[in-house]
Amino acid sequence: SPAHLPEPEGGLKCLIPEGAVCRGELLGSGCFGVVHRGLWTLPNGKTVPVAVKSLRVGPEGPMGTELGDFLREVSVMMNLEHPHVLRLHGLVLGQPLQMVMELAPLGSLHARLTASAPTPPLPVSLLCLFLRQLAGAMAYLGSRGLVHRDLATRNLLLASPRTIKVADFGLVRPLGGTRGRYVMGGPRPIPYAWCAPESLRHGAFSSASDVWMFGVTLWEMFSRGEEPWAGVPPYLILQRLEDRARLPRPPVCSRALYSLALRCWAPHPADRPSFSHLEGLLQE
Ligand code: AMP
Repeated sequence: SPAHLPEPEGGLKCLIPEGAVCRGELLGSGCFGVVHRGLWTLPNGKTVPVAVKSLRVGPEGPMGTELGDFLREVSVMMNLEHPHVLRLHGLVLGQPLQMVMELAPLGSLHARLTASAPTPPLPVSLLCLFLRQLAGAMAYLGSRGLVHRDLATRNLLLASPRTIKVADFGLVRPLGGTRGRYVMGGPRPIPYAWCAPESLRHGAFSSASDVWMFGVTLWEMFSRGEEPWAGVPPYLILQRLEDRARLPRPPVCSRALYSLALRCWAPHPADRPSFSHLEGLLQE
């Protein structure tokens, strides 16, 4: 029901009539919905290629947490505007609810990193460009008082061969209070191998825990999309991290970049660089 929509700061970006969007091929599926390629017909008759995320609906309607996450993602995205943040065009108040987003025609960075031959590996200079784009987008999110909480190459989309966009805002939360962190209210699935120790131990997330995840994302990029801590049971990851174990330097990652990742993995959140500092360091 529209009455359940959250009140966003800037009002709805665009309410799109159900008939104006037609869905095509399936692009992927996430925690609370499926994503299709689509075509959006504007009132002037022009068509725009889009991605359409539909809320998954069970036999008894949408699940409470999934609906909440879906609406939270909409209300976060409608207030964001950045060249490296995926754009939300609008919402279809139909059955099911649908988010109409900018299409990233080349899919996820993770899929590109793990593509097998004859697709060539991405050059290091391009990975460094992506890291700068990512640090810029994350500095922007932090400036809007948000933590992403799910930074990983699977959530970076390729809008063009040299442009990534941060996507998947289902786990985004506002940074509360003076301490600038968000503490989880109860047990929810979180991406263990990407998480900072304070997130695993206390459910605490902040811009500094996003910086930790940026370090893991950097590691994924230089490891051709390998899974971090593969083979280590989730309950042992925190113990390893607290014993100061860190993901190893991937062979194609320079020592300078790896030392940057190690700074992102400082045990104390306050010792990690900020995203704007990282942007400058990456520029150098
Ligand atoms: P999500 O539910 O946001 O995790 O999306 C699930 C999958 O759908 C992603 O891993 C992508 O492969 C694909 N996808 C999501 N959004 C888009 C988009 N805007 N353009 C192209 N593919 C997308």
